[in-house]
Amino acid sequence: MAEPWTAELGAISGLRVRWDEPLARYTTYKVGGPADALVWADDAGQAEAVLAVAKGCDVPVLPLGRGSNMLVADKGVRGIVLKLGREFDTVEADGDTVTAGAAVPMSVMSKECAKRGLSGAEFLFGIPGSMGGGIRMNAGAHGASVADIALGARALGWDGATHDLSAADLGFAYRTSQLGAYFCGLRGTFRLEPDDPTRVEAKTKEYYYQRLASQPLDLPSAGCVFRNPDVASAGKLIDDLGLKGLSSGAASVSEKHANFLVAADGATAEDVGALICDVRRRVFDACGVRLELEIKLVGEEPPQVAPW
Ligand SMILES: Cc1cc2nc3c(=O)[nH]c(=O)nc-3n(C[C@H](O)[C@H](O)[C@H](O)COP(=O)(O)OP(=O)(O)OC[C@H]3O[C@@H](n4cnc5c(N)ncnc54)[C@H](O)[C@@H]3O)c2cc1C
Repeated sequence: MAEPWTAELGAISGLRVRWDEPLARYTTYKVGGPADALVWADDAGQAEAVLAVAKGCDVPVLPLGRGSNMLVADKGVRGIVLKLGREFDTVEADGDTVTAGAAVPMSVMSKECAKRGLSGAEFLFGIPGSMGGGIRMNAGAHGASVADIALGARALGWDGATHDLSAADLGFAYRTSQLGAYFCGLRGTFRLEPDDPTRVEAKTKEYYYQRLASQPLDLPSAGCVFRNPDVASAGKLIDDLGLKGLSSGAASVSEKHANFLVAADGATAEDVGALICDVRRRVFDACGVRLELEIKLVGEEPPQVAPW
């Protein structure tokens, strides 16, 4: 690969770059092909420089958190995939206000709050994404979501400028936010409630045990594949049709949670895509409900999941 952008990317001071890097090892689905360039920006200056190269050379660039809500195409991702490194992996508290870098795992954020006797982030424990991905997706569980605790976020815009966004600017809605309108979230600020650390820890554990009991955490997946429609949860609709165990290649509908499409060894993104199509078609034929995707399909020629 000897295009001008590769030289420019390689010249960014301190930037860690891996060329033609398989993305399967950076996502929870563990399928999909390589990124032309996977880079780690350890500070805001490096992230800005990566964006400048991408814009200047007209190369696509995709932020990647912990890859727990995406299906990477078997052909991989052309251009640059950006991960955030050191500067974005810290949690700081000032009273009941906590600031977490976008690279901080949601479970770490939850534990850091619990340690300080701060309640409100218990639901984050066990969600395998980053705080950046959590803000982007308005991650939630147990009746709470990131929107409930977010005060705001700092983002790098496509214009190359830093934007300090309020919770209102972030436009949180069910499993989405306006962070997607910006290039990359850098950090978030959250308001928690002081509480007894023992009680916070107990609630965290209770939530986690519920997760262990209801989700197939031993198999690669990206969590719930479909958004819940108004009528019922997607998992219930799929389960009621007896589709647990339905498979396509090495991908199958989990026996434990019908909205999890799990990937066994050797699965491809095409296997998962074909299963998504099959499930969607069957649910539509039986119930007239059009299941929308919660996960993101990324990369070159992603599986065709056009359903109906
Ligand atoms: C076993 C399992 C259980 C799960 N349980 C839950 C659950 O209970 N609740 C829930 O809501 N989700 C759940 N998920 C899904 C997932 O963890 C969340 O959607 C999470 O918010 C994704 O974060 P991530 O860092 O992995 O994002 P990624 O998958 O890396 O990215 C998701 C999207 O966000 C974008 N993005 C990532 N980082 C940034 C950033 N810094 N700035 C801007 N955009 C960014 C990406 O480009 C992509 O479009 C589960 C997944 C698994 C595998």
